[in-house]
Amino acid sequence: MAEFARVIVEVARNREFDYRIPEALRETVHVGSQVVVPFGKGEARGYVVALPASVAYRELKEIRDVAGRKAVVSESMLKLARWMADYYLAPYEISVRTVLPSAVRKQGAAFVERLQVVVTEKSRDAAALLELRKRAPKQAAALDVLLGGGPAFLNHLAHAAHTSPGAIHGLEEKGFVQIVKEKVTRDPLANLTFLRTEVPPLMPQQEDALKIIRQSIETLAPPVVLLFGVTGSGKTEVYLQAIKHTLARGQGAIVLVPEIALTPQTIERFRGRFGEDVAVLHSRLSQGERHDEWHRIHDGVARIVVGPRSAVFAPVKNLGLIVVDEEHEPSYKQEEAPRYNARDVAVVRGRLEKCAVVLGSATPALESFHNVRRGKYALAELPARVDHRQMPVVRVVDMRIEAEREGRVNVFSRDLIEAIRTRIERAEQTMLFLNRRGYASQLICPKCGYVAQCRSCSIALTYHKTTDELLCHICGARERVPERCPAPKCGDPAFKYAGLGTQRVEAILHKLFPIARVTRMDSDTTTQKGSHRRILNEFRAGKIDVLVGTQMIAKGLDFPNVTLVGVVFADMSLHKPDFRAAERTFQLLTQVAGRAGRGDLKGEVFVQTFTPHHPAIQAARRLDYTGFLDQEFEARRELSYPPFTHLVVLTLKGVSEQRIQFAGEEFVKQLQPLLGGQVVLNGPMPAPLARAKGLYRFQILLRAPLTKQITESLKQALAGFKWPADIDCAVDVDALQMI
Ligand code: ADP
Ligand code: ZN
Repeated sequence: MAEFARVIVEVARNREFDYRIPEALRETVHVGSQVVVPFGKGEARGYVVALPASVAYRELKEIRDVAGRKAVVSESMLKLARWMADYYLAPYEISVRTVLPSAVRKQGAAFVERLQVVVTEKSRDAAALLELRKRAPKQAAALDVLLGGGPAFLNHLAHAAHTSPGAIHGLEEKGFVQIVKEKVTRDPLANLTFLRTEVPPLMPQQEDALKIIRQSIETLAPPVVLLFGVTGSGKTEVYLQAIKHTLARGQGAIVLVPEIALTPQTIERFRGRFGEDVAVLHSRLSQGERHDEWHRIHDGVARIVVGPRSAVFAPVKNLGLIVVDEEHEPSYKQEEAPRYNARDVAVVRGRLEKCAVVLGSATPALESFHNVRRGKYALAELPARVDHRQMPVVRVVDMRIEAEREGRVNVFSRDLIEAIRTRIERAEQTMLFLNRRGYASQLICPKCGYVAQCRSCSIALTYHKTTDELLCHICGARERVPERCPAPKCGDPAFKYAGLGTQRVEAILHKLFPIARVTRMDSDTTTQKGSHRRILNEFRAGKIDVLVGTQMIAKGLDFPNVTLVGVVFADMSLHKPDFRAAERTFQLLTQVAGRAGRGDLKGEVFVQTFTPHHPAIQAARRLDYTGFLDQEFEARRELSYPPFTHLVVLTLKGVSEQRIQFAGEEFVKQLQPLLGGQVVLNGPMPAPLARAKGLYRFQILLRAPLTKQITESLKQALAGFKWPADIDCAVDVDALQMI
């Protein structure tokens, strides 16, 4: 039995403190227990994150109490934390903390208690009432409001009766009312009404997919299903009916959605079907709201959880199904320790809790499809859109030809302008997509490809209109905008206009179509709570002709009247120094194109690009996932990149280039002999982002067919190696960020 406990205290959330467990409590304190500990001059609540065998500090205070006999965190969640720590090479404490309910352990996130006023028998006593009216008219007035069916909360009642809370306490003393504490749950979706939706009969292809998923829910054979369905094929409806099936079996479900796609429209689809049974967790919730939602889930009041990556840890009772929508999304990966991928954690949690896992996407990650091909996941396909709606026609516009013809680089090609004009005339809607907010962003020379970069960060500078200068978003350096392309032998004047942001696209549209109603949606225009919802509602109601936006409008939106989608500059994500650049570009274009023609009218998509023959762009034009996949698989196999290997990236940061290089080489010397023959090691070498915030960055890349082949030796090498104090080393297992 453990003598010591390591505790996260609610009031000091990012540190752990050690306590002694008194004899009497040794049987009840577990990892995951909620405890009361002495803290400062008073007491605090906390969670036990570890039971260390020994502690450094001798004068330990004792744990005072344990809340309940059971751990707040279930055993399987602790197993999950253990797996995460092991797989992602993260400290166990940090891993446990990740599965702990953050809002619940934070200070000030208790339930709100409100004082409710209820009348007693005495208030019906006419004689007593008469007496009260004479002696205490204010109290009597408050009682009248209450008896008339008025507000029942103490503060509301006082307000309504134009009196003070004191008067109502007076009423209680006299025995006319009772004041009781009532717990109120802050429902983030209060004040919003949801129309209950009927369950539509499924299309045959949906039936087939659901059959596979139902079988998975019932027998766990197969344990994981990849639902590969083109945009608008009715994947969400399949999720909804799979959840219904799960609930009917008395089980709960988790639905993971990328944060960016967690739109009111998405939430409505789940709430509309399951009402109060749905709890929503997302980053815009207040601390209090999150606390309450967590308890609704923990207490089994809400059996369905919809949320972003951290919702994979939601304490759903008797979990029967985890859905990961848009499973290919890089935002499922956490970019700080533990660097977990929620999709992969979902699969592991599914295995630990014996529940089915469904991964859905129109453009599955190569990793997931690889797992289908080698028989680890089952495949369910939705190859056509609902009701035989047609897939949109995708046209690739060669902007180099356009520039030659016009003698300059315009933001919009003639074809796209004509297409927008036609939509405005026909009262149909247009979405224009640009993967960048702001006015102008990085300046890329359309002629030679030169990008204006920060001198100390090796990252592209961002143009800011208000100050008319270039700004480094990493170190804050400022520069003036050059008149011509600074690259030697180029000097192209179009350079100045080459950088593009949503704000500038919007401004140009206003000029081109003065009467059109144009609205922009990006993280700048949606900072206010509810603004996101408002813009989308206006768009749905037809009050907006053209919606300009970033990634925010690329995913999960379903507007039947959108018949045109324009991608202003498709190359933006293509030239990143990342072996997944082609995959990302293909996914993005497919998703964006998927917004067009979801109603009865056929959709059209314009993709403007300076590299029209790139395979990713051509595959997107043909809407040919499988073609892209085969080609990309070939390239990855050749280079031994994921999904044919697992990739671990070590990033070293420090002030001195030489010292990092040296330390990196020393480390590799230690590591190399421990590695088996299956492991490929590259580096240390400067990272693509070679410098940031004045720190140099180096990478060491490790690839092998199995993660363990890398991590076991790596753990050993890291344990025996002391990095110099001025060098920081971060390990990223199954890295998605290559810079
Ligand atoms: P996806 O998630 O694959 O992009 P959705 O689930 O959003 O597709 O479905 C696209 C549209 O088709 C939605 O408007 C949805 O309400 C509708 N839909 C889906 N399944 C059916 C069905 N069986 N019958 C009628 N409409 C459906
Ligand atoms: Zn900089």
